[in-house]
Amino acid sequence: MKIKNLAAIIISLLIIFSISFAIYWQSITPVTVVIQAGHEGRNSGNTGATSGNIQEVKWNIIVANEVAKQLKKWDINVKRVPADTKLIKAKIAVAIHFDGSSKKCSSGASIGYKNRASKEFAKRWRNIYGNYFPFGWQQDNFTKNLANYYGYYYIRADKFLVLELGEITCKKQTKWLKPRLKKIGDLIAYTIARELGFAPRKP
Ligand SMILES: [Zn+2]
Repeated sequence: MKIKNLAAIIISLLIIFSISFAIYWQSITPVTVVIQAGHEGRNSGNTGATSGNIQEVKWNIIVANEVAKQLKKWDINVKRVPADTKLIKAKIAVAIHFDGSSKKCSSGASIGYKNRASKEFAKRWRNIYGNYFPFGWQQDNFTKNLANYYGYYYIRADKFLVLELGEITCKKQTKWLKPRLKKIGDLIAYTIARELGFAPRKP
């Protein structure tokens, strides 16, 4: 085959692929809210922090389930996803995590995001959770995992926050967090609902 023909075939295939993808992307119905439990469903790779008998992923699931349950109660369209998911379009996406640190009690809560709209949303979350969570905060996007979260690629949301809700390698924090996981989920749901223009009662 001549090089010229080969190039023409490759270019044609690329065009066909781009058009097919555009059609596919158009056909995806956006959801209002996506809630992801960090590390859920992973058996290898980054399976989340652990500390004694506490596994981050289990706490992520408890919180994420509560957020989704609460949003559904308010008739807000929500999709609950595990760590790995196919492409989704959404208005708001929130990924739930807890931090782990090799230097115990040196971390706390933090937020990751990518765009300006998310930054404003992050500020509102920090106000709400900051009034409740009695421990320290890291600066926004303080790790690579937060700044370049893999989920940003799969979940295309207008606003996307990756929340670290506390440090599970810190006993003082886990003692406080453990009985409050559902309440924290309710606060996240409340923050999302307000972001969407609803005015639910504060939990
Ligand atoms: Zn995590």
